[in-house]
Amino acid sequence: MKKDDCIFCRIANGDIGSNTVYEDEDFRVILDLNPGSRGHMLILPKEHADDLFELSDEYCEKLMLVARKVALAAKEALGAQGINLVQNNGEAAGQTVKHFHMHIIPRYDGDDRGMVNWTPHESDPEAQKQIEEAIKSELSKM
Ligand code: AMP
Ligand code: ZN
Repeated sequence: MKKDDCIFCRIANGDIGSNTVYEDEDFRVILDLNPGSRGHMLILPKEHADDLFELSDEYCEKLMLVARKVALAAKEALGAQGINLVQNNGEAAGQTVKHFHMHIIPRYDGDDRGMVNWTPHESDPEAQKQIEEAIKSELSKM
């Protein structure tokens, strides 16, 4: 269902204009209004989902095919040397718009390396084992 008070629902369904590079019956792919790099795009499902956890299996399955298609087009059209796929869920992860979206970020040799990064920490084998077990246990319930 689309939500009238959701800006990305309105953009995805064409009620608000955007720089659309791709559209099919399920998704619209637009240029980000404040791009991190030349050609930074957002894949928006036309149905509202707050985040990945609300996105239907059907949308999840189709999403990666759209991502690969537009990423490849950006590589060819813009001469990008690399592409980051980024998808934020929840404020803790940096999500600012509560309508699922996947960032497709073309990358160029020598561009701003700080765009998608984290600080690598040394791992503790015991802690890693506990984490491995906790996630596997949760998965076994699904
Ligand atoms: P996130 O932090 O993952 O929620 O990313 C939200 C993204 O949406 C940011 O990169 C914004 O620049 C972008 N954005 C917000 N409003 C618009 C808009 N009206 N049109 C295009 N991009 C937008
Ligand atoms: Zn929405």
